[in-house]
Amino acid sequence: MTVTPRTALTIAGSDSGGGAGIQADLRTFFANGVHGMVALTAVTVQNSLGVQGFSEIPVDVVTGQIKAVAGDMGVDAAKTGMLATAEIIDAVAKTLDEVHIGRNTSTPFVVDPVAASMTGHALLREEALEAIRAELFPRATLITPNLDEVRLLTGVVVTGPSTQREAAEALLEFGSEWVLVKGGHLDEGQDCVDLLSDGTSWIELSGPRIDTRNTHGGGDTMASAITSSLAKGADAPTAVAEGKRFIERCVAEAYPLGAGVGPVSPFWRLGGA
Ligand code: PLP
Repeated sequence: MTVTPRTALTIAGSDSGGGAGIQADLRTFFANGVHGMVALTAVTVQNSLGVQGFSEIPVDVVTGQIKAVAGDMGVDAAKTGMLATAEIIDAVAKTLDEVHIGRNTSTPFVVDPVAASMTGHALLREEALEAIRAELFPRATLITPNLDEVRLLTGVVVTGPSTQREAAEALLEFGSEWVLVKGGHLDEGQDCVDLLSDGTSWIELSGPRIDTRNTHGGGDTMASAITSSLAKGADAPTAVAEGKRFIERCVAEAYPLGAGVGPVSPFWRLGGA
C-alpha cells in the first residue's frame, strides 16, 4: 500500500560540505520518515574548515519556492535556518502569512535564528537581526537559539540556570509561542540542559554532554528533528523532547570528515553508516 509521509519545509541555505544547512535538514527529515521540501535562500562555499563565502538567492525565487510547494503539496511543518538578509526575512514572513504557515495557523513553524557558523563566520548580514526579531519571532511556534544567538538577539550572556531563564523571558517578549534556550555551548556541568518555555510552563531538558569536536550542523539537525515531530502532529514539548533525544545520538555518532569539524550523524536512525 502506498503511504504518503508527512511533509516538512526548510527555508535555509546550502552547505557545500553537506553537514549543515538544507543538507542537514533533508537528511534529518528523511531519517525521521518525513518528506522534506526546500526553499533555498543562499549558497555557501564551505568545507570542514569553515565558510569561505556565500551568495544569496533572489528574493522572488525564495518566496516562489515556498508558494510552489505550499500551494500544491502542502506543508505539515516548516522551519527557517540561514536567511542571509533582511530583505529575504521580510519577504519570507509575508509569504508565510499568505500560505498560512506559523503560529495561529494549523501549520507549526520553527525559527532557528542562524547568525554565524561555529567557526565564527557571519551567515546573516548585520541589519537582519532586527528583522528576525520583528518579523519572524512573532510568527513562530518555537524559536531555538544557541547561546551566541541569545547574546546577539537579547544582550543576555547566559552563564547558568538563572541567566538562561532571563534569556528565555527576554526572547518571549518578541512574540514566539515557545522558546528553547539551548545550553549546549555552556562549558560548565556534566549535563547539557536546555530550557523550554511558553512563559507559563518551564521545562528543563537534561542530557549527557558528549565530548566530540565533530558538532557541525548540530543546531540545524536538532531544529529539523523537532520540525519532523511537529509535522507528525506532536505538541511543542513532545517535539522538543524527541528532537533532543535525536540530536544526542547524532552527536554521539558524529564522524570526522575533512581536516576540520566533522558533521553530526543521523545515520544511526537508519541502522548505521
Ligand atoms: N552553513 C549553513 C548553510 C548553515 O545553515 C549553518 C547553520 O545553521 C552553518 C553553515 C553553520 O553550521 P555550524 O554552526 O555547525 O558551523
